[in-house]
Amino acid sequence: MSTADKYTVETITDVRPWTDALFSFRTTRDRGYRFVPGQFARLGVNGAAEGSIVWRAYSIASAAHDEHLEFFSVVVPGGQFTSRLSKLKEGDPIYVERKSYGFLTTDRFEAGKDLWMLATGTGLAPFLSILHDFDTWEHYENLILVQSVRTQPELAYEDLIRGFEGSEYYGEFAHKLRYARIVTREPVPNTLRDRVTKLISSGVLEENIGLRLDQERSRIMLCGNPEMVEDSRRILIERGFRMSRRGDPGHLAVENYW
Ligand code: NAP
Repeated sequence: MSTADKYTVETITDVRPWTDALFSFRTTRDRGYRFVPGQFARLGVNGAAEGSIVWRAYSIASAAHDEHLEFFSVVVPGGQFTSRLSKLKEGDPIYVERKSYGFLTTDRFEAGKDLWMLATGTGLAPFLSILHDFDTWEHYENLILVQSVRTQPELAYEDLIRGFEGSEYYGEFAHKLRYARIVTREPVPNTLRDRVTKLISSGVLEENIGLRLDQERSRIMLCGNPEMVEDSRRILIERGFRMSRRGDPGHLAVENYW
């Protein structure tokens, strides 16, 4: 395959900063680009050497039916990719591999009534895409979104998440969504304070959400900080949950973020 077959050249159409280190951006989308909500794209930006491209995986935050692609990023100190990416402006080019990747998708599960989506930091992105998938709303009785960040300004996308209620398209389903916010490094009203791992172990998360984590009903997705993913996975496996594997659906699907 030639490089031109491997990726398309897209354009940044919008950049939205949330904090000094956290931003979202949109790009144009090739008409042939396909993905399943929860998957990631591989994005390229021009590197330091003439003609070089630096590539990195990014979960897609936008809906499968959107005409654009949206991504949610943190600037990694000293990171080759994100330091370049964070300087991009509307109108700049960005490369998008034609293929989409990853298994953090609801088709890994069978049955199940409650879909738990546990995110830290920018690990929220795939869940935003999944939340725009009408099939998910139809299939599950409850959608539980848990967003854990260090400080209040990092609670990105709150308006979008709260906006399902009252939305022309999603309004009829919106009562299914239960949204818990965790801010771990400062006190913020109406948020939880402990790490999600501790909240699962202590039972406080279930109490707060008003639903039990049980193998019959619950399907659980974890995305974000690799230690959070690993620790949560261990706690849940100890409680009898099983990883979903290709051709062998279980209760858990995970994606590490770095
Ligand atoms: P983060 O350290 O991942 O924290 C986000 C949330 O996850 C916080 O509430 C944090 O709680 C919680 N958390 C962290 N470890 C956990 C664990 N083991 N179990 C349960 N919860 C846990 O912070 P971030 O702001 O999203 O990212 C921080 C840094 O990570 C960035 O500045 C960047 O350097 C790096 N990062 C790198 C990449 C990459 O692609 N290379 C991508 C994203 C982030 P606490 O406050 O208690 O820690």
